[in-house]
Amino acid sequence: MSCSDATAGPPLWLLAELTYRCPLQCPYCSNPLDYADREQELSTEQWLDVLRQGRAMGAAQLGFSGGEPLVRQDLPELIAGARELGYYTNLITSGLGLTEAKVQAFAEAGLDHIQVSFQASDPELNNAVAGSKKAFEQKLAMARAVKEAGYPMVLNFVIHRHNIHQMSDILTLCESLGADYVELATCQYYGWAFANREGLMPSRGQLETAEATVNQYRDDLRERAHPMKVIFVTPDYYEERPKACMNGWGSLFLTVAPDGTALPCHSARLLPIEFPNVQSMSLEEIWYQSPGFNHYRGDSWMPEPCRSCDEKDKDFGGCRCQAYLLTGDADNADPVCGKSPHHDRILAARTAAEHATAGLDDLVYRNTKNSRVFFRK
Ligand code: SF4
Ligand code: SF4
Repeated sequence: MSCSDATAGPPLWLLAELTYRCPLQCPYCSNPLDYADREQELSTEQWLDVLRQGRAMGAAQLGFSGGEPLVRQDLPELIAGARELGYYTNLITSGLGLTEAKVQAFAEAGLDHIQVSFQASDPELNNAVAGSKKAFEQKLAMARAVKEAGYPMVLNFVIHRHNIHQMSDILTLCESLGADYVELATCQYYGWAFANREGLMPSRGQLETAEATVNQYRDDLRERAHPMKVIFVTPDYYEERPKACMNGWGSLFLTVAPDGTALPCHSARLLPIEFPNVQSMSLEEIWYQSPGFNHYRGDSWMPEPCRSCDEKDKDFGGCRCQAYLLTGDADNADPVCGKSPHHDRILAARTAAEHATAGLDDLVYRNTKNSRVFFRK
C-alpha cells in the first residue's frame, strides 16, 4: 500500500474532541472504553494551531465535542479563534455546565450552532441514564436559553430499547421547546454501546413501531405547516447493506482526540492501527501521508466478497470498526452486509434483541471507575 495519497481531497469536516471528561455516564458513549487512562489534553495554543492548519487545508465545518467540551475553560477562546479563521462552528454538548451567560458569550464569540443532547423525554429515565439527578431540568433550561439567544435549535436523542417507546413524547417535548431540528439517532454499537449492546439494542418490533410513530408525527407536522425537521437514524444492525461509513475512510472527516491523536472517525481508535498525533506531525502530513490515514483509502485493501462486488463504490465495504469488533479483522466486509460470510453475527444480535430482558441496572455505565475496573488494558 502506498504511504501517500495525492489523490485524496481535503478534509472538509474537522471534529475537535476537546476532552474525555464528562459529568454524565451514558452507557452508549462513543468515547474509548479505557478513556480514564487517557487524561492528556492538548493546550489552548495546540488546539488553535490544529484549527489553523485544518482551515489552511480547506476544512470549513468544525465541531467541538468530547466528553463534555464545556469542561474546557478555554472554550470561548477556541470559539473566537475558530470564528476568526472562518469556520462554521457547532458545539455538541450535554448542556451540563452551560449557563445563560455562557450561551450568550459563545454567541458573541461567533459560535454558529449548539446541539443539546437528551437521554429521554421524562426526568426519571433521562436522569437514570445520564447518572445525574439534575440533568433533565438543566437540559430544559439550556435548550430554552439556546433558543432565546437566537441559535438554530438542534436537539439530539440517542435511541435504545429503554426509551424507544417515547417517540411521541420526545417529539412533543421538542416541539414545546421550539426545536428547529430533532435528531433521533438509534444507538450505533461502538465503544460503550458495543459493551452494552445486549442491554441497549431494540427488537425489530420496537423499531418498526418507533418508525411508524415518527412518520405519523412528521405527517402531522406537515399538515400543520410546522417547520420542525425530524431526522430518524435507523440502526444498521437491521439493514442488509452497510452504510458508507464516514463517506469513505479519510475522505471528508478528520477527528482530533483530546491528546492530539488524529483519526479518520471518532471510533477508529479501537482499531489495531497506529494513528499519528498532531504533536509530532503536521495535519497535512497526517492527512495525505500517514499510513494510518492511507490504510483504507481506495479499494486495493479489500478482500472478497467486497473486492469483486459491484457495490463497493457505494459503501466502500462498510465500517472498518464494525468489521473489527464483530470479526476480529478490520479488513473484512462489514458483517451488516448480507453478502458477508460473518452476517450470522448480526442475525444473532437481532435474535438476542428479541429475547433481551436486561434492565437499566444491568448496563455498564461510562464512568471512571468502570473504565478502570473493566477496561484497563
Ligand atoms: S455520550 Fe454521555 S457520557 Fe458520553 S460524552 Fe456524551 S454526555 Fe458524556
Ligand atoms: S460485499 Fe462489500 S462492497 Fe459489496 S455490498 Fe457487501 S460490504 Fe458492500
